[in-house]
Amino acid sequence: MSDLHSDPGLRTRILDYNPNIRDEIRRAYLQKGPCQPQNHDFPQKKFGKESRRFNPAWFDEFPYWLEYSIKEDVAFCLCCYLFKTNLGEKAGGDSFVGTGFSNWKKKERFQVHVGGPNSSHNQALKKCQALMNEKQHIENVFHKHSHQSRIDYRIRLNASVDCIRFLLRQGLAFRGHDESEDSSNQGNFLELLQFLVDHNEEVRAVALKNAPENLKVTSPKIQKDIVNAAAVETTDAIIRDMGDAFFSILVDESRDVSVKEQMIVMFLLIKLALTLPVATASVERAFSAMNIVKNRMRNRMGDQWMNDCLVVYLEKDIFNSIDNELIMQRFQNMKSRRGQL
Ligand SMILES: [Zn+2]
Repeated sequence: MSDLHSDPGLRTRILDYNPNIRDEIRRAYLQKGPCQPQNHDFPQKKFGKESRRFNPAWFDEFPYWLEYSIKEDVAFCLCCYLFKTNLGEKAGGDSFVGTGFSNWKKKERFQVHVGGPNSSHNQALKKCQALMNEKQHIENVFHKHSHQSRIDYRIRLNASVDCIRFLLRQGLAFRGHDESEDSSNQGNFLELLQFLVDHNEEVRAVALKNAPENLKVTSPKIQKDIVNAAAVETTDAIIRDMGDAFFSILVDESRDVSVKEQMIVMFLLIKLALTLPVATASVERAFSAMNIVKNRMRNRMGDQWMNDCLVVYLEKDIFNSIDNELIMQRFQNMKSRRGQL
């Protein structure tokens, strides 16, 4: 499309383009608008004893279609160039389409070219308008659609994050043995989401059965990524809260998120060990927390997943203070789905 000539004297005939791309070419030209050079030094032309030249004020009179070719020093009609393709030799009668108009002495020919309401020029003009409206219409529908689908997606994602938060706080396992749709127990995550769908109309309208197949935001991989996003946000908040210079430096030193997290888990365990003699009750609680997380969630749990769950479970208060929006943004910015939201 970039090699379309601005100068009407240099253009390829529309008929010489492949029929499949003609409308595309037409739209490109209509978007550019007619070629109307304003500051050109229009050359004088002899008409008998008089000299005349193209007057750029004529562009104001016929802003939608009048074109001027610097190369040929002639005028053309954009609409007729784009749509008056079936005239063949007859077009010779109308120089605005064929070789171009240059009889600057007979300006009244402009009006003759336009003609009556059903003139071939006006028919071409109507076709131009229809083509552009059609494009705009499609764009509007698409824009509206994509805007709505983005809102729907956010509602679904937010629902998944809510369910995951609940399971993490309670130290419950996520997945079931049989997650198929007719299973009597699809596992905690899907069952909880179903519960939410059953009791929340807004979520029901867009989630699970009412979600597009590829955007359900419920797959095991997505559960894992959301948990990871929650853990990373919690980890960052822990580091901010601690304000321990040494620890911050140590953690900042490592750009790798998983290393950062392993260090946090280590830190939490050291914190447990250090407080052991003083606060037996809270430590017992923490250890039993680890047992809960470890035992109930161990099935199919990798190290990363285990760390993620531990961090948010042990630092529940911090986790609770983190907004869904932060988790959603973090999740959405993961490499595999950048720019989807
Ligand atoms: Zn025309």
